[in-house]
Amino acid sequence: MTLSLDLTTDATRDALRARAAAPVKGELIGLTREELAEALVSSGVVPERQAKMRVQQLWHWLYVRGVSDFADMFNISKDLRAELAKHFTIARPEIVEEQISSDGTRKWLFRFPPRGAGRPVEIETVYIPEEGRGTLCISSQVGCTLTCSFCHTGTQKLVRNLTAEEILTQLMTARDRLGDFPHRDTPAGAIVPAEGRKISNIVMMGMGEPLYNFEAVKKALLIASDGDGLALSKRRITLSTSGVVPEIFRTGEEIGVMLAISLHATNDDLRDLLVPINKKYPLKDLIEACRSYPGLSNARRITFEYVMLKDVNDSLEDAKALVKLLRGVPAKINLIPFNPWPGTNYQCSDWETIEKFADYINNAGYASPIRTPRGRDILAACGQLKSESERMKKTERLALEAMMIAGHGEA
Ligand code: SAH
Ligand code: SF4
Repeated sequence: MTLSLDLTTDATRDALRARAAAPVKGELIGLTREELAEALVSSGVVPERQAKMRVQQLWHWLYVRGVSDFADMFNISKDLRAELAKHFTIARPEIVEEQISSDGTRKWLFRFPPRGAGRPVEIETVYIPEEGRGTLCISSQVGCTLTCSFCHTGTQKLVRNLTAEEILTQLMTARDRLGDFPHRDTPAGAIVPAEGRKISNIVMMGMGEPLYNFEAVKKALLIASDGDGLALSKRRITLSTSGVVPEIFRTGEEIGVMLAISLHATNDDLRDLLVPINKKYPLKDLIEACRSYPGLSNARRITFEYVMLKDVNDSLEDAKALVKLLRGVPAKINLIPFNPWPGTNYQCSDWETIEKFADYINNAGYASPIRTPRGRDILAACGQLKSESERMKKTERLALEAMMIAGHGEA
């Protein structure tokens, strides 16, 4: 059974209209502790001598308890709560739609307000429950500046970078909906891991190139992994890049999360065609950057993503070249069956070919799971989106959703 809910009530619509007309309030989610203190003090809401204590209180309410309304912050006086609400917002994005697949995969269409003169933007976030873990696939940009030829996002222009707040609220809103904050109920019948957190892993594998939005991604991931807040282990956060070599070392050094590389080819000629950023940062430089990734060890391997394209990169020769290329790099290989989209010239490799490829890699000593596509039934249903929210063409949406669901990571 597939469920599709429109969660925009008339009251929400009115509130959003009022919000659009009202003066813009400062956002507190996504600020570092220092920035949060600065915002509270410079607005005159909190005296300097109280700043540290108030930051601690707010941090707890926002990231441990997950409240989205100042009124729920019981240990803060009513007057101060009202002042906070006058100057700041901690609101979640509008949930335009929530779809639930029969396999438990959930997909949300979130709408964020315009920044400056821009239009509101819509992005998708996908939740994939599995035995023993639940993975959330998060977007970093609306569109992408890169043009990987097999990726549908690559045919869309970059609309804009998401802010740290917008990256984090994807996680926080998903946790709201799954009852994954203390004292919240998980919706009846939801498919979630039997024990532990409903969202145990996050992957930056949605729309966009996270390393072209480095500062916002860094802020968001440092907050997501802060031990006194959302407290996700950095080992359970994976950032996927097409290969923005100059930012790879910094990712390990300054963010410290697990790395995934969208490799897809083992020689420069082919990778230039599939992942054109390769012309700027060829394989030699990319693999070198991987070898020097801070914290790399057999216990902390890099994941190499390899999309299986029929007669393009799926021969046994390619499998051999892949093993050779990665020799000496602590690596996991993820084979992703290609998700076709309207207008593409690529096809997904035959299942038998994928299995042969996987066998070769397994025999060479790599665990190489083939990602099973999830949530197929909600792809079929996504044409039911309401037209007013449908900025992307239906065909574009289908392709993007297919990619996000297939592209979720191992962590
Ligand atoms: N921009 C980043 C992260 C987002 S893409 C990156 O490129 O790594 C997430 C993953 O989905 C990447 O490995 C990407 O190569 C893969 N992907 C893109 N389009 C796909 C498609 N049509 N079928 C299967 N995987 C795809
Ligand atoms: Fe952008 Fe990643 Fe798609 Fe390439 S694969 S176009 S980097 S989203």
